Amino acid sequence: MIKLENVGKSFANGDSLFWAVRNMSIDISKGEIVALSGPSGSGKSTVLSMLGGLLHPEEGTVTVDQVNLGSLVDRKMEQFRWNHIGIIFQRFNLIPVLTALENVEIALIPSGMSTKQRKQSAAEWLARVGLSHRMQVRAALLSGGEQQRVAIARALVHQPDIILADEPTANLDRKNATIFLDTLVSLNQSCGTTLVIATHDPLVLSYMQRVVKMEDGQCLM
Ligand code: ADP
Ligand code: ADP
Repeated sequence: MIKLENVGKSFANGDSLFWAVRNMSIDISKGEIVALSGPSGSGKSTVLSMLGGLLHPEEGTVTVDQVNLGSLVDRKMEQFRWNHIGIIFQRFNLIPVLTALENVEIALIPSGMSTKQRKQSAAEWLARVGLSHRMQVRAALLSGGEQQRVAIARALVHQPDIILADEPTANLDRKNATIFLDTLVSLNQSCGTTLVIATHDPLVLSYMQRVVKMEDGQCLM
């Protein structure tokens, strides 16, 4: 379902190149629950960004659902992401002037659902993350933890095949972290959703079937 083959990603560092991910290969099957763990700067976010097609590697290939992401140009990549992937990243966040409900609802626009259906699904998912009472509040006025929960509802509302999450519990208290993880596991069990989560959090790690350890842009296996 997800395959990284000899992937390398570099960033410019003054006049030279810095390789954030080097010669990395991993295979993730449909329905797996996988953590990427490793120290800050080891390349976890960069790997997730490549899996979501937000960054493209200079070396190697990233294949998701049998599609080589390198072959998709911007519009097609966006379409592919809407159809297959839910992203929960700290810096891929909410639209501040829209309400919590609107932020979740927009993830359903490409689905072709009616406005009424979209609002209903968005409201259901906000209820699942405990935000029914905050639905009409603009994202800018929500706390960090509330914003994170809206981002989670937005990533899950269209029930993607794959969920990519970068430190998703960093802003959550233990109660909400547990609700989030239980929700992910139930989606995994009912829909076969594949989960890839970059995390240091022992609570999250306790839910994982497999942990891929990273160091200096490589996975240790
Ligand atoms: P994490 O919390 O997972 O350690 P980081 O804060 O390292 O995440 O990075 C989060 C995002 O910021 C990543 O998508 C990465 O591409 C970007 N980023 C990280 N380091 C830099 C940098 N030195 N310059 C520009 N962008 C960066
Ligand atoms: P992690 O998520 O494990 O903390 P990242 O993938 O965010 O690691 O970063 C890996 C390395 O790549 C870090 O040294 C980071 O500073 C660097 N990096 C990430 N994104 C960028 C970027 N956009 N520009 C420059 N350096 C970056």
